[in-house]
Amino acid sequence: MSNKALIVIDYNNDFVATNGRLTCGEAGQEIDKKIASLIDEFNKNGDFIINACDNHSEEEKYSPEVSMFPPHCFDEYGKELYGETKIAMDKVSSEKSLYIAKHRFSAFAGTSLDLKLKERNIDELHLVGVCTDICVLHCAIDAYNLGYKMVFHKSAVASFNQEGHSYALTHFANVLGAKVV
Ligand code: ZN
Repeated sequence: MSNKALIVIDYNNDFVATNGRLTCGEAGQEIDKKIASLIDEFNKNGDFIINACDNHSEEEKYSPEVSMFPPHCFDEYGKELYGETKIAMDKVSSEKSLYIAKHRFSAFAGTSLDLKLKERNIDELHLVGVCTDICVLHCAIDAYNLGYKMVFHKSAVASFNQEGHSYALTHFANVLGAKVV
């Protein structure tokens, strides 16, 4: 076990699968193999792996995300990880993994994620998933403010918006001081 953790953000069917309710489509599907291989690598090293996924109940009335977007991530299929990423994550033991139900863009907003990372002395986060310029960006900003070092794998983040994707990668490197590889 090292001081680093892998956080897989919103890589569930509703955001990635062709029939997902808010899918980023092919751009999202293209990074599946890379995320799965990172999960395998972190798992082999005994490192901590987090599945941080949007979770909205159908009755959730007060979340701004519910009024801003069509209903998403409320049923089992929508919240389930996509493709090879799911297969890789299923191999990780419960002791080495954590599921975070996200109610906002950032996986830190209103969750125990920061505590769970600090308990394990983790100070370096590898953020992967979708969308680079929405949930990944909001997680990254919170992680920066909480003092984490960050690494982004260009081929393991994606967005339906190419311009937003490029902007976010530049922001990670030039403003958040992250390593982009
Ligand atoms: Zn949402």
